[in-house]
Amino acid sequence: MAGFRALARDVRNPRRHITARRTSLRKCLERFAPYGHRATWHHLCSRAGIALEDRHPEPTRLITALEELEEARALWLGYEADFAARRRREKHHGIRQPSAVDDWHLHTWGGCDILPCESPSAHPDGRLAEVLARLIRAMETGPASSCPVCAQDRLAWHDDLGRYPWEGPVCGDCGIVVPVPVLTAEALAAVRHTRSGRAAHPARPAAAPVRHHRRYATV
Ligand SMILES: [Zn+2]
Repeated sequence: MAGFRALARDVRNPRRHITARRTSLRKCLERFAPYGHRATWHHLCSRAGIALEDRHPEPTRLITALEELEEARALWLGYEADFAARRRREKHHGIRQPSAVDDWHLHTWGGCDILPCESPSAHPDGRLAEVLARLIRAMETGPASSCPVCAQDRLAWHDDLGRYPWEGPVCGDCGIVVPVPVLTAEALAAVRHTRSGRAAHPARPAAAPVRHHRRYATV
């Protein structure tokens, strides 16, 4: 299976048919898709001015989309490398404790579904790298009571997300599933109480079947 960089080279290769280059960009999202595959594709197309189903996009627009993805990936992989190094140091000093952060990283490692969006068309507007930078700052500064991306506190608990984390706090403003480790215990308790208040989101699609297994059964 081709890696991200090989796929990116295929996207840039002017000797390939534009439809094949577009397909390679979509395959890049199987390696790195912070909002999940569909929402990340929707985001990149929106920002680069590509119609979602256009199989013959302008090459320059395709490259624009790829560059936004690459910029975000470089930022995120740098963060993960720093995080892993810090964990190793902590473990060496015997202070490493399993935590919600570890669990969250286990499921998002490499950059897929970092900030899953419940609806493919409802995701943050900003540049992908800027959004991830805000999340990294939130991870590094510690738990807060609002969304790490848009700073709003209109969070509601959704228990039918259809994929990891299966249930969690969804931001009513920017659409992301907020990673639990960036919220304080108080904020988390408050948002859990919104379970019965989901009428605040009447446009949500029909409930997907709740799945009880996790992608990684063992660590
Ligand atoms: Zn938000």
